[in-house]
Amino acid sequence: MPAKHIFVTGGVVSGIGKGIVTSSIAKLIQTQGYNVTAIKIDPYLNFDAGTMRPTEHGEVWVTPDGGEIDQDLGNYERFLDIDIPKDNNITSGKVYWNVLNKERKGEYLGKTVQPIPQVTNEIKDQIKNVAKKSKADFIVTEIGGTVGDYENVLFLEAARQLKTENGSVIFTHVTYLPVPGNIGEMKTKPTQHSFIQLMERGIQADLMICRSENPVDKPRIEKISQFCNVDEDHVFTIPQMDNIYEIPIILEKQNITKKIFDHLNRYERIKETSTSIESSLEYKVNAPDFVKWKNFIEDIKSLDKEVNIGIVGKYFKTGKYNLKDSYISVIEAIKHAAWNNKVKPVIDWIDSQDFEDSLEKLVNLDQLDGIIVPGGFGESGVEGKISTIKYARENKIPYLGLCLGMQLAVVDYARNVCDLPDAHTVEIDKNTKDPVVCILPEQIIEMEKSNYGGTMRLGNWRAKLQTNTKVYGLYQTDNISERHRHRYEVNPDYIKLLESKGLVFSGTSPKRKLMEFLELPYHPYFVATQSHPEFKSRPMKPAPMFDGLIKAAINKKYS
Ligand code: GLN
Repeated sequence: MPAKHIFVTGGVVSGIGKGIVTSSIAKLIQTQGYNVTAIKIDPYLNFDAGTMRPTEHGEVWVTPDGGEIDQDLGNYERFLDIDIPKDNNITSGKVYWNVLNKERKGEYLGKTVQPIPQVTNEIKDQIKNVAKKSKADFIVTEIGGTVGDYENVLFLEAARQLKTENGSVIFTHVTYLPVPGNIGEMKTKPTQHSFIQLMERGIQADLMICRSENPVDKPRIEKISQFCNVDEDHVFTIPQMDNIYEIPIILEKQNITKKIFDHLNRYERIKETSTSIESSLEYKVNAPDFVKWKNFIEDIKSLDKEVNIGIVGKYFKTGKYNLKDSYISVIEAIKHAAWNNKVKPVIDWIDSQDFEDSLEKLVNLDQLDGIIVPGGFGESGVEGKISTIKYARENKIPYLGLCLGMQLAVVDYARNVCDLPDAHTVEIDKNTKDPVVCILPEQIIEMEKSNYGGTMRLGNWRAKLQTNTKVYGLYQTDNISERHRHRYEVNPDYIKLLESKGLVFSGTSPKRKLMEFLELPYHPYFVATQSHPEFKSRPMKPAPMFDGLIKAAINKKYS
């Protein structure tokens, strides 16, 4: 059967959880036994998110094939438990790049190249390319931004055309219903207006999904139905939830999947292409995968034991606001591991810049059951992170270092155990006397050969684990693969010295050149990796290194 398309648009304000709605709809259809994938459209002109600062656009997500992508793809992977390649992220940058390259090669055969049809055709081709490569039955595509933005107009137009051509297309419009403080009443007007803006683009929403603090009541559902040309039972409500993974359940209580299937079956009949039974979608009540998901969510609600995990970072602030989005995959990985161990995670945010010169504050770290130093770039906050790592190491607080968190663990060990007080990573100090973390010359050549963007090591890389180590115990195999996004490596010239002083490199690249994992045998849990295992963590399949941290944290707190 040709792929069926569900487009998710947004109205009123950004940040209302279009990504979670996209993931939830995709998940629900997947639980019905279909092959589903999801696409994120980012209307910005950057080719991808690789060069964006985390406070600009949240975390940079890394795909298995080395794409540096908007964080929404991470939600799709976590909900669907599938690997999603970089082609599933379509940006204006990628679209124009292709259009201009084709124009230079003369592929438009002398025609004037215009937004419509050449650019819209390119958008449709990129969507169809995903459908072809993934062989998915359903493609759920989230169109970034809000309707009414200049930037996404051509994407909305391409989606509209796809519906005219293909028919099996559903539009889901996600909006927000505010309760202005001085009025004290939930207002539908912004939703009505965003609906009108969508209509101006020639798109009638089939489903309206309303985000709000509290559930939307009957009078307002009637109003939205009346003004937005949808039946009342096609207006869905998602109130504020503690757990994003519960949103599929909230939507399914309102029968969303059956309504999507009924809609698509109706289109098929109108087209008269498929009166045959096989092509019509049949909805199964209580599909086993759905019941499994539901039970999983119910179990989480009954957890009462807690562990406190501190994330030491620096990408928290823009202006007066804290942006936890910069570490979303780390946060989700902590949750998955905690739930797997039947505890609730309490996450403490530690701004490493606070520790740069006020070391007495470090004592507060004793209240934590585990500490994570996640990935990062650049100089600010680095000395604070090193102090935190040293404190965790000396005071036996469970520690997990991710990428930069591993590099700085090496710097701490070199400075404070191996007597190399000037040791540093060359990322921060180019002229350091002891460059314990650096760029390896052969690495640059290797990466240039395999065409990895610039000098970054990106995407999946294999590692070999040493048996009889903690890391091997966590993975239960010696041959693993994790996603990477970094430029610097542990300097081979210092490995002997570090090892002689007790540091164990428990995993390396298959040819043993690159140090991938380290640990301290005499510490309850001091483990770090050059990779980003948070990208492979899933709700019911925690990443082994996070699982190990939570187990150690439970041990510290409860035994
Ligand atoms: N900045 C470091 C590097 O480029 C670490 C990167 C990261 O933590 N993702 O190697």
